[in-house]
Amino acid sequence: MAPHRRDQAVRAAVDQALLTPAAPVAALLDLAGVRASAAALRAAFAGVTDAPVLHAFAVKACPLVPVLRLLHEEGLGAEVASPGELALARAAGVDPARIVLDSPAKTPAELREALALGIAVNADNPQELARLDTLVAQTPARSPLGLRVNPQIGGGTIDALSTATTTSKFGIALRDEGARARVVRAFLDRPWLTRLHTHSGSQGMPLSLLVAGVREAYELAEEINAAAGRRQVDTLDIGGGLPVNFASDEDTPTFAEYARLLAAEVPGLFDGRYGLVTEFGRSLLARHGTVLARVEYTKTSGSRPIAITHAGVQVATRTVYDPASWPLRIAAYDAAGEPRTGPAVDQDVAGPACFAGDLLAVKRPLPLLEPGDVVAALDTGAYYFAHHYAYNSLTRPGVYGFTVREDGSVRFATVREPQTVAEIVAEAGGGHPDVLLRG
Ligand SMILES: *Cc1c(COP(=O)(O)O)cnc(C)c1O
Repeated sequence: MAPHRRDQAVRAAVDQALLTPAAPVAALLDLAGVRASAAALRAAFAGVTDAPVLHAFAVKACPLVPVLRLLHEEGLGAEVASPGELALARAAGVDPARIVLDSPAKTPAELREALALGIAVNADNPQELARLDTLVAQTPARSPLGLRVNPQIGGGTIDALSTATTTSKFGIALRDEGARARVVRAFLDRPWLTRLHTHSGSQGMPLSLLVAGVREAYELAEEINAAAGRRQVDTLDIGGGLPVNFASDEDTPTFAEYARLLAAEVPGLFDGRYGLVTEFGRSLLARHGTVLARVEYTKTSGSRPIAITHAGVQVATRTVYDPASWPLRIAAYDAAGEPRTGPAVDQDVAGPACFAGDLLAVKRPLPLLEPGDVVAALDTGAYYFAHHYAYNSLTRPGVYGFTVREDGSVRFATVREPQTVAEIVAEAGGGHPDVLLRG
């Protein structure tokens, strides 16, 4: 989010009482930014190919219906990986023909529903292919059906997000003994299998490795089609995974850089013989979200200044549990929502949860924070505030989309209402407290 727009939004969130002592955490989403990223993605691929491309947003990155709806309006489809994500995409009005179902653990019921709706499915493994055999024999599928392969090209800097390692749980491991031949055979035996899917990893993957994974899938498609003597594989799903620069406001790498690199390294991918599917998540949304939290208290411990805020593990789970992999930038504002100025002092920005590691930032140089100030955790539009973690029964904050009008005023729309304490009690069995005492 552009720093200027962020400052306007923070100030307005305070003025319009989205962030108050009673609601000390709020999440903001910059709608102009989301639209701009969607447009940049479309333009990047349109710049290198005339082939049809379905950009299916990876719903897990921001599973909020109005956000999916906005992306839908921007021409994006949806990549889903659970019954919940599928329901969200459908609630957002995404046409089943623009939904792709990936998941390593699809049940027979999920597969049947997807096939009935005409949703594209990428099978993960031979057992899933066998289930599809049964379903397709019962009713010929309207759904495009594909197979996910793991090119085993290695991992990036974050193990947990590297899906193309030798022993990754995803897809068919192509370099395992005999696997490649079995994959080719699987296609020859199944004329309805027309897509290849690969997703090599997410944050922490260098572009070169993402490209290497796509190249492997492309070459396999060529091999299958040569063996079949026809263009059986007609669509390549190249996954998502473009990394986001969490260190600065500079957008590197860009969708355009990635598309151009793919065009240079795997030219056949874009020559019109294949339809394409992409599944970007983080790179479309991360930049455009900010979590705001009030500072409740400040103190020193071991002479370290510490600001105790209301945002911690519940909204920044990955950062708190794995701070080395997921550093977040923090911006400081005063109680009126104006940027806080002053000499930078190394301080910890802590969350409200009751364990020592609940820290958004450690020894971070920032103007010295005071009670009532506001901290902003930047670039949290994907995999952060939309991924609430229920530790300490902290409530889910409200999520507000914003647009800045020409006169500089800010309009907010509620994407997700703040959760109430009463809802927490109800979800925690509050309606039947005696159930364990009976019988
Ligand atoms: C998570 C995931 C994506 C999206 O990854 P990003 O890093 O958010 O772009 C795409 N495809 C699959 C199969 C995934 O699991």
